[in-house]
Amino acid sequence: MEYRFTKAEEDFRKEVRSLVAGHFPPSRPYNDSPAHRQEWVNSLLARGWAAYKWSTEFGGPGWSATQRYIWERETASNGVPAQLGGMGMMMLSPILQGYGSPEQCARHLPGILGNEVEWCQGYSEPGAGSDLAALRTRADRDGNDYVVNGEKIWTSWAHIAHWMFCLVRTQETERRQEGISFLLIDLSTPGITIRPIPTIDGMHHLNQVIFENVRVPIENRIGEEGLGWTYAKGLLTHERTGLANISLSIFLTRRLRTELAKQDTAGEEAGSEESILSRLSELETELSALEATELRALSELEAGEVPGPYTSILKLKGSQLVQRATTLFLDAAGFWTMPFTREAQAWNALSMPGPEWAAREVSRYFSGRAASIAGGTDEIQREIITKHVLRLK
Ligand SMILES: Cc1cc2nc3c(=O)[nH]c(=O)nc-3n(C[C@H](O)[C@H](O)[C@H](O)COP(=O)(O)OP(=O)(O)OC[C@H]3O[C@@H](n4cnc5c(N)ncnc54)[C@H](O)[C@@H]3O)c2cc1C
Repeated sequence: MEYRFTKAEEDFRKEVRSLVAGHFPPSRPYNDSPAHRQEWVNSLLARGWAAYKWSTEFGGPGWSATQRYIWERETASNGVPAQLGGMGMMMLSPILQGYGSPEQCARHLPGILGNEVEWCQGYSEPGAGSDLAALRTRADRDGNDYVVNGEKIWTSWAHIAHWMFCLVRTQETERRQEGISFLLIDLSTPGITIRPIPTIDGMHHLNQVIFENVRVPIENRIGEEGLGWTYAKGLLTHERTGLANISLSIFLTRRLRTELAKQDTAGEEAGSEESILSRLSELETELSALEATELRALSELEAGEVPGPYTSILKLKGSQLVQRATTLFLDAAGFWTMPFTREAQAWNALSMPGPEWAAREVSRYFSGRAASIAGGTDEIQREIITKHVLRLK
């Protein structure tokens, strides 16, 4: 396969590169200050680039898949997130735009675009993760409301979110996928309890969310009752593409190469530089191969096809490469990772012994372990690849 960018695409790449480099020169990187980041957000909003995947109909730039790809790579190589707006932007907005009513779009999209309303994803439950159709949180009709009872788990960012997009069971059906509906739930509604689940990376991002007789207006249902599974499946494809994390791996490998080139790297001090460098080269090669797979999916998208199971290959291999990149950072830092503390994770941590990044990378290493679980485990991705790509039974 050969994939060449057109002249217009090359020009677009130059435009993006100079915009990103102009705002984030080496002396003022992304983590420089919140005010500097806010200026970036404002400038993207002013250009109509804040929601880079949205069509012009919804206030986005209407970019092609290739332009989106270029945007993602150019931002990532400067350590700048491609997307603003969290889960609402990444996961809910395509569903709202595809299946929501005009009223629902008008009510929720502006808050997502302006980064003013935080959303979380309420899918997983105890006993319903990989086998999501086993979910038991019920929503029973009562007048103009659903009454929701049940429990969600592993809900990222529920403690800071204003709203949850959620899968609930509205009917007991023989085919379990058929009785599921897609609800938008205001988390300030009485009857909702949110409990933290601390994680090994020292952070609080996961939660348990309990619903006890929570009244949700029927108008908060997306699309038709009982079709939530169909809408959610589309959403998971979006999630899996994002979870390939190729941009993050590129950023990490480039940064590690820069750090290793410096005199005072821990890799050198730990006496393991040679093996670190050869592992880094292997990783970079595999990353290029995965990029080629992404480009293949991209050319299918541009041709109007749905990449489908490719996203599982990207997710599976992408998670493995992120984990290898974070492990390599840790090995390069050697014993300097020992003073891993909550404080050391702060981007402006001072007075840490060893390279300034060493202790901080421990947290990234630990959170990287979740890459092979969140959004569908490695085993489930392998099953999808076996059935749909290799057509094995
Ligand atoms: C950091 C993180 C953030 C998350 N954020 C969210 C969120 O915001 N919202 C949300 O709804 N969920 C979230 N999740 C939950 C995530 O989607 C589930 O953890 C995931 O789908 C796996 O489900 P489970 O944990 O119930 O494990 P299980 O499904 O119980 O799986 C346990 C093990 O069995 C294996 N297994 C299961 N079924 C099969 C099979 N058929 N064949 C082979 N092996 C199998 C799995 O691969 C796994 O190794 C998050 C998870 C993590 C780790």
